Amino acid sequence: MNKKKIEFEYKTKIKLLVDYNKNYYDASKPSVTDKAYDDLKNSILILESKYSFLNSKNSPSKIVGYKPSKNFLKTAHRVPMLSLANAFGRDDLINFEKRILNFLSKNSDFNLSYSAEPKIDGISASLIYKNSEFKIGLSRGDGKEGEDITANLATIKDIPKKIHSKDFPEEIDIRGEVFIQNSDFKNLNEKFANPRNAASGSLRQKNPNDTKKIPLRFIAYTFGFEKGLKIKNQIDFLDKLNDWGFKTNPLNKLVTGVDNLLINYFNIEKDRTKIDFDIDGIVYKINNFELQKRLGNVANAPRWAIAHKFASNKAISKIINIEIQIGRTGALTPVAKIKPVNIGGVIVSNATLHNEDEIDRKDIRVGDLATIERAGDVIPHILSVDKRKRDKQSIKFIFPKKCPSCGSKTIKEFNHITKKEDAVRRCASEGYVCEKIVIEKLKHFVSKEAFNIEGFGKKIVENFWKLNLIKLPQDIFNLDFKKIENLEGWGKQSMENLKYSINQRKNISLEKLIYSLGIRHIGVENAKILSKYFKSFSNFVSFSSGTSLDDILDIDGIGETQLNSVKGFFNNKINLNILKELQKVLIIKDAVTKDKNGLLKEKTFMVTGKLNGISRAEVKSLIEENSGSSVSTITKKLNYLIIGDKPTKKKVDQAKELQIPILNQNQFLKMLNITS
Ligand code: NAD
Repeated sequence: MNKKKIEFEYKTKIKLLVDYNKNYYDASKPSVTDKAYDDLKNSILILESKYSFLNSKNSPSKIVGYKPSKNFLKTAHRVPMLSLANAFGRDDLINFEKRILNFLSKNSDFNLSYSAEPKIDGISASLIYKNSEFKIGLSRGDGKEGEDITANLATIKDIPKKIHSKDFPEEIDIRGEVFIQNSDFKNLNEKFANPRNAASGSLRQKNPNDTKKIPLRFIAYTFGFEKGLKIKNQIDFLDKLNDWGFKTNPLNKLVTGVDNLLINYFNIEKDRTKIDFDIDGIVYKINNFELQKRLGNVANAPRWAIAHKFASNKAISKIINIEIQIGRTGALTPVAKIKPVNIGGVIVSNATLHNEDEIDRKDIRVGDLATIERAGDVIPHILSVDKRKRDKQSIKFIFPKKCPSCGSKTIKEFNHITKKEDAVRRCASEGYVCEKIVIEKLKHFVSKEAFNIEGFGKKIVENFWKLNLIKLPQDIFNLDFKKIENLEGWGKQSMENLKYSINQRKNISLEKLIYSLGIRHIGVENAKILSKYFKSFSNFVSFSSGTSLDDILDIDGIGETQLNSVKGFFNNKINLNILKELQKVLIIKDAVTKDKNGLLKEKTFMVTGKLNGISRAEVKSLIEENSGSSVSTITKKLNYLIIGDKPTKKKVDQAKELQIPILNQNQFLKMLNITS
């Protein structure tokens, strides 16, 4: 490439970046994702490092934010408010530390300690205090001059207007982040794309009364100009901020060395979605103020700090279609089919839209460009759609008023407890009428917590349904195995395996059977309660003839909702027939009353790894039936760890360290005098 071409490419990129900055900082309406912005910024920095003749006053290596808006008075910062350099991985951190050690002329064995602070994705503000009183509040602006937003900042409860501590400096600019909590953001009338824009937009309203309506918060983390500050390092300063009445981030931590920075980073990233505000990385600051001072700043960022960014968990893609899935209880769940997009390393092509109200509230339409978020193991969901980029022909999504599977009407029930209409719309058909509902009921019937028929997965349920092999639960126990053996993908061995798994499960406890029926509002725990109450299958069935109907309301855990649901179940003839047919093919064990002095009395157990021919749920009930209890974390109090195939190494190691006896499946069963 010749020089002219390179200059042209560079200038085009800078122009684009300035445009993005204006939308993001000034209008609080980003036009691209942060990832796209960061990529553009990096590509400019790479060009600059490669070609020394490139130079612009608008380069991201020189500027901070965007010039103050004309809507506010401008005020100069007495100490500039800078940006931060970014790190994306271990190598960047090692280089960061090396640069610091070189600059300070220290050997590599010199220990550097950092204040590691989650980087809140809000907007920064500088609060000028004189004689312990909040006087002026500024936005960062372009780092040199900020917007005077004193009246708006004064509406924020977290910002103390007067400090009563004697050791508060005579003059100081307290700096920190203004943000909105995710739970508060959800309750805002939809107007902003995400919490950061909501905070930025509402903090910079012309009328402070508009700012006041938004639950903004403030977390303090640094200072600018100061006169009379006696503190020597960042961690002590953060503590002092608390004493003075400011909120600080409880996850701030003093950390030494790159390896420990990484451990802290991954720990926080793992739990990122549990925090009620958005964080986009961790800021590392050299703890010692003396060293900070020696290190100083580069053009637009301190040399002594860096922001270690998290991998993006959001992306933008197009909604190709909105499909309605129907669940076992008839709930209609809308799902957006999106153009496949990579979010944090995972290709996403479906995103849940939760329910009809959510679609209405966000006005989500087919063809829209949507921001999709994938957080942890949760199903990806649509955060917002870009209405500005919407096609003129686009039409509002109309939620089906008839069930797309069976054509029955769909209803939103009235919840007598909340006195509100449900957000979820349901297919109003009862029992085994709606094809989609029946298939989901059958999947539930064979699932792990229910009959736990090994090898009878969701795909097989769908396939057998299509082939008319199963239409009702009892069909599972009357299968035509000759026919199955000859199906494509099946053979003698696989057929025999399935037959064996089904036969093994013909012996079932009452509580498992009740749960398997998939009665709405009757989950594992309620099934257990009902089985204890009814004791035997015949008592349970007699419930249908009206005996002791309302008595079950006296049982702990069973409320009106559950009672009505069970009543509804028995009012349906098909359900009664299913029970009759199941009774013919199953051996249903009466409920076992818990033996208070059982073989496992006062013993605690935990299971890790895959067990053979017995589910975790079954092991759990065996433990409980024999007066033991099962726990989910390893502590000194754990008595036994039961391990199956491929146990979690960490758990086994922890157990060994705490000298907790480890049992395999057979050893455990032997404790109960069961031989496998
Ligand atoms: P930065 O990444 O340089 O970081 C500095 C900011 O971090 C501070 O001003 C402060 O607001 C914040 N911060 C949070 N916690 C902190 C702590 N404990 N200590 C110090 N600072 C803390 O921020 P920037 O210069 O405003 O902008 C860069 C970021 O904004 C990038 O990540 C970029 O993706 C995003 N951005 C996006 C667009 C877009 O169009 N999508 C446009 C511009 C900027």
